[in-house]
Amino acid sequence: MKREFAVIGLGRFGGSICHELSKEGMDVLAIDLDEDKVNEFKNIASHAVIADTTDEKVLKEIGIRNIDHVIVAIGDNIQASILTTLMLKELGIKKITVKAQNDYHEKVLRKIGADQVVHPERDMGKRIAHSIISNNILDH
Ligand code: ATP
Repeated sequence: MKREFAVIGLGRFGGSICHELSKEGMDVLAIDLDEDKVNEFKNIASHAVIADTTDEKVLKEIGIRNIDHVIVAIGDNIQASILTTLMLKELGIKKITVKAQNDYHEKVLRKIGADQVVHPERDMGKRIAHSIISNNILDH
């Protein structure tokens, strides 16, 4: 059976995840508070909905419980990110990946049961540094 994903927050990071998963033929539900963002993803994701994911009732209404893996890509609003993750956990989502802003945010996310916590800028910085080092070794 095809796996189902949901991406909450369609900024640069969440938007990119949504694009790639859709390109690979995955079933993706794109979610954001912002109507313009949602409209942008209407033709990219399988489904796109306007929703505030800090509201448990809304999460239930959009059928989040049927999703295998949810990616929380809410940026600046740490409170919304934590609340959303907590609610997803309580609703029994099997796999939750969350973008963290800093170490304190990560600590709380791990405590409430996020399965995977990522720091996109930090992780990408590390990868690029290593690729610069290996390219330099090849150059010499
Ligand atoms: P990036 O660096 O990935 O662009 P960002 O730091 O700019 O991220 P934000 O713009 O703060 O991220 O948030 C990403 C998206 O999350 C925004 O489009 C915003 O509308 C959405 N968002 C914020 N709070 C909620 C919420 N409670 N429910 C749904 N979406 C939300």
